[in-house]
Amino acid sequence: MSGSTITPWVVGNWKMNPMQADAQQLIQNFKGLLDITPIESAKCHIGVAPVTLALTTVQSVLSDSNREIYTVAQDVSRIAGTGAYTGEVSAELLKDSQIDYVLVGHSERREIFGETAQILNEKIKNALNAGLTVIYCVGESLEQRESGQAEQVVLQQICDIATVVEAEQWHNIVIAYEPIWAIGTGKTASPDDAQTMHAQIREGLSQITAYGKSMAILYGGSVKPENAVELAACSDINGALVGGASLNAESFHKIALAFANTK
Ligand code: PEP
Repeated sequence: MSGSTITPWVVGNWKMNPMQADAQQLIQNFKGLLDITPIESAKCHIGVAPVTLALTTVQSVLSDSNREIYTVAQDVSRIAGTGAYTGEVSAELLKDSQIDYVLVGHSERREIFGETAQILNEKIKNALNAGLTVIYCVGESLEQRESGQAEQVVLQQICDIATVVEAEQWHNIVIAYEPIWAIGTGKTASPDDAQTMHAQIREGLSQITAYGKSMAILYGGSVKPENAVELAACSDINGALVGGASLNAESFHKIALAFANTK
């Protein structure tokens, strides 16, 4: 399988947005657009990551959907199981609520909440052991890119998790390459630069796991309907992790359509 034959993923990261009523309206609008202009599941995996409080709201709106739309948690505890851990939501609790996907390693969690490689490894280990699929985010800062360290930084972030992911578990990992300087800034990596990094990530993954060639590598960082087709045309870009534009049902639908039709 080459990078271009992998079914793409388009995942909306709603971050700390919106209020419950708006979350319900947003997912209803998106579902309505899929009814008018369907996107076959075989052509594109679609997921949305609302705040924890809205996970079940979104799930119930989607329960009679014509196609599967994954409900994705934005975070998971580094503690497994249940117990006296105030404020935490474990992988097992997510699984118990039929949440099968989780984002780990988003740059906002690394930078604002001080999540180190060790913390992320604990989260990933728990998530995989509980049967979740992990969307693992990697990416370099502007300073790292400008000093020529982008590739090294990103490949190190991939290597970091190799100590906890068991051979068969790589199958349950999706990588999201998100250059930090492109997140929420309106700046996007050029398709050529993104493709170059994605090809390097695939090469790095292939040295670590037999699944490397078949793993989806998503691009994230100011993806919009206007740049989605160009990004989707790159052979090693297997989808998008979308922040801002996923808060608008029409934009998110257009992005998913772009990946489904271009791949
Ligand atoms: C993100 O937060 O994962 C993201 C890519 O955000 P945006 O699309 O707004 O840049």
